[in-house]
Amino acid sequence: ATYDPAGSVPASEALFARAKAVTPGGVNSPVRAFNAVGGTPRFIREAQGAWLTDVDGNTYVDLICSWGPMLLGHAHPEVLAAVTAAVARGTSYGTPTEPEVALAEEIVRRAPVEEVRFVSSGTEATMSAIRLARGFTGRDVVIKFAGCYHGHVDALLAAAGSGLATFAVPGTPGVPASSTELTLVLPYNDRSAVEKAFAEYGDRVACLITEASPGNMGIVPPEPGFNAFLAETCRSHGALFVSDEVMTGFRASAQGQWGLDGKVEGWTPDLVTFGKVMGGGFPAAAFGGRADIMRRLSPEGPVYQAGTLSGNPIATTAGLTTLRLATDEVYAHIGAAAETVKTAVGEALTTAGVAHTIQSTGTMFSVFFTDGPVRNFDDASRTDSAAYAAFFHAMLEHRVYLPPSAYETWFLSAAHDERAVQTILDALPAAAEAAAKA
Ligand code: PMP
Repeated sequence: ATYDPAGSVPASEALFARAKAVTPGGVNSPVRAFNAVGGTPRFIREAQGAWLTDVDGNTYVDLICSWGPMLLGHAHPEVLAAVTAAVARGTSYGTPTEPEVALAEEIVRRAPVEEVRFVSSGTEATMSAIRLARGFTGRDVVIKFAGCYHGHVDALLAAAGSGLATFAVPGTPGVPASSTELTLVLPYNDRSAVEKAFAEYGDRVACLITEASPGNMGIVPPEPGFNAFLAETCRSHGALFVSDEVMTGFRASAQGQWGLDGKVEGWTPDLVTFGKVMGGGFPAAAFGGRADIMRRLSPEGPVYQAGTLSGNPIATTAGLTTLRLATDEVYAHIGAAAETVKTAVGEALTTAGVAHTIQSTGTMFSVFFTDGPVRNFDDASRTDSAAYAAFFHAMLEHRVYLPPSAYETWFLSAAHDERAVQTILDALPAAAEAAAKA
């Protein structure tokens, strides 16, 4: 029951055909393709504030926000001015620079880390954090949760083994069994699974890595005290607790997910990974944590890690300017807009009789097309993808660009003003009807 207004986006279709001839699936990251919902991805020509314009001249309210980074909206004038000035001074030197120091200071000021090292993607951040955890502890085993995505790191593209505390198997062709045979994959929000794994392998565990609040299976918040329990369990076994805040960092709140739980409950992760918002729309990411751990990195310590474009002056200028503009008012605005949209989505789906569950953490939320609650990946997998596909296309028809997959967070920005929010609200009843008929 999905539809794509065939012929109405000829310029996107033409580009997609060209793209498919030279790029696998026509896209440079799989979720951009419309494989889960059908149809032609819109090729975007430009973006301003909350709005995307495609190559056919259609405008859409953007609920992807580049999958999180665009906290202030697109082409924010102050970010543009800072970036333009930085570009004019040269784009990369391969030497230390002032903006990377200032951005590191800003991150250390907000987040529970004493030192940070910059990289260029969230994948590099988690890969490096795991190497550092292994190098620091002298242990090899890594624990992750099913449904948590940490980028395309071999050891983390893992699927649960056959038993609860058995080692994982590769999650994709191309990952050798040897890369996942030291990874344990557990069900999220399941304390007894964590206890069992640590009881069996505790003295071999280098780290447990978790999304601070999972957002890559839709939003599945940690149950109250779950992150504190993980931090304490790691501590008591001499393992490191790695909190992946690539998505939630400077997004769920000014201090990320940690600002919502760890800060209140009084615990600190050993290592944290960041990305998305801290790059202001450029390729920048970071990992950081306790100084005694971070100092094991080269050149100070023996654990090797490096990058030609790490801490790039343009990317760090964009990130620094973004974070400086990301005031409490910005988070309050995004939170209020999210409340309005969530309430309206819930009402529209209820009126149309569509099963749904809306879950949030801080300013972030997602919509599951299934009855809740959604506590883990198995629950999330019950989402009705066909209903979502119909909903997605009806929203697109009404000029709202949702993530083209049922398992994603919907991202708002400081630029989502009344007109943008109203455009979303106006689209909802027809989309809910379409979902009901799917
Ligand atoms: N960790 C989390 C929690 C993420 O959401 C992502 C990206 N969606 C990554 C890591 C990987 O980041 P990147 O795509 O920049 O490699």
